[in-house]
Amino acid sequence: MKHVVVLGAGYAGLKTVVLLQKKLKGAVKITLVDRNPYHYEATDLHEVAAGTQTPSKISYKVADLIDPDITTFIQDEVVKLDPAAKNVQLAHQDEPLTYDYCVLGLGFVSETFGIKGAEENALPMTNVKEAIDIHDHILKQLKDYRSSKNPDNLKIVVCGAGFTGIELAGALVDARTHFADVAGVQPSDIQIILVEAATRLLPMFNDKLADYGVNLVKKLGVNLMTGCLISGIEPGKVLYKRGKDADEESVTAGTIIWTTGVSGSPVVAKSGLKARRGRVMVNDHLNDPEHPDLYILGDVAAFMAPGEKRPYPTTAQIALSMADYTAEDLTERIKNGQRFAKGYSYKSLGTVASVGNTKAFGTAMGHPVKGYIGSFMKKMIMNRSLMEVGGVKELLSKGRFDLYH
Ligand SMILES: Cc1cc2nc3c(=O)[nH]c(=O)nc-3n(C[C@H](O)[C@H](O)[C@H](O)COP(=O)(O)OP(=O)(O)OC[C@H]3O[C@@H](n4cnc5c(N)ncnc54)[C@H](O)[C@@H]3O)c2cc1C
Repeated sequence: MKHVVVLGAGYAGLKTVVLLQKKLKGAVKITLVDRNPYHYEATDLHEVAAGTQTPSKISYKVADLIDPDITTFIQDEVVKLDPAAKNVQLAHQDEPLTYDYCVLGLGFVSETFGIKGAEENALPMTNVKEAIDIHDHILKQLKDYRSSKNPDNLKIVVCGAGFTGIELAGALVDARTHFADVAGVQPSDIQIILVEAATRLLPMFNDKLADYGVNLVKKLGVNLMTGCLISGIEPGKVLYKRGKDADEESVTAGTIIWTTGVSGSPVVAKSGLKARRGRVMVNDHLNDPEHPDLYILGDVAAFMAPGEKRPYPTTAQIALSMADYTAEDLTERIKNGQRFAKGYSYKSLGTVASVGNTKAFGTAMGHPVKGYIGSFMKKMIMNRSLMEVGGVKELLSKGRFDLYH
């Protein structure tokens, strides 16, 4: 019986397992590896960081979706792959795990672009633990304010006003009343500052929509500092320049959060795969070009959009669609000894950015959506992806039919 090893129980990995369990029952043995016993919706991490969602609301046990007749789940750290020998080294197992086919879906890590002090002095937000750490850090700063009266304890700087930074700022705005109670101040005393190098934000949207998003964030009282190129992070201080040759300026804050960029898992480089920022340019079967039995999905993959010079942006949406393709292709290979006739292709259903619980903006199925309607669309999109991986059971258990919890 063929052995499929799936690395990462994120959107890409877990959905691949769920589909293979249905399509190849009796014909395959699956091993799924993740460092955590739970799957989490990375698209909601900003809400955990702000404290507007609990970690349990955005995660569920991997075991809930495992069919023990076919799949073994190993909770361990993936160290590296040897794609030529077709095996995977795990941190706590002496013998490497061998495979016939491997699906690599280890997701993203924070990218600091070598900016001095960013790793040491800014908080990343790429997994549940980091999101909880951010929330705990904010609360500690607010509690400290009661005795210190240091205004920096009330300041939160988010580095990077991309999609993630904007969504985080929106969630922090929603949390401002609670934050103010903790510190014993007025909500308007809590300062939320976004520092961003670009002057034209949100390149995934047209000018009109991007302007709408920017104005929305500003109207909510977020201090949006654009055209500020971050040059370093010191403890409690973000250094930046308003132009290459400009003098260095700084903004101080008790909480500094890093959402400037992400790269693919470092396991990609450790495994000797050819990649740029941890992303492998896959072929149209989503395989590593040199290793046809290795599928690379989600944030560790780069797939070129036809006629474009850049790969598609990494999103949960494309990770899920890559899982669909991989399950079809593996089923054809294992059942019929041939490849799925069509190569992989992708059509985005749109992108919607939330700004707090009741506002959002973006495009859905080719149409612009804004405000409350936008937030409704965003919640429907999030429910769809929860449903695609976790099924009705997880959707119900998370109470997500109540959209405005
Ligand atoms: C705040 C935020 C908002 C976002 N909003 C959207 C959105 O609105 N729409 C959208 O489409 N996308 C959004 N994204 C992007 C989206 O979350 C990612 O593109 C998506 O999570 C990638 O899925 P994946 O399956 O490749 O990896 P992940 O979801 O990151 O899963 C990777 C899995 O691998 C495991 N893992 C990693 N390394 C190891 C290791 N060495 N050993 C063992 N296990 C390991 C992790 O525990 C995790 O379970 C957002 C991201 C963030 C941070």
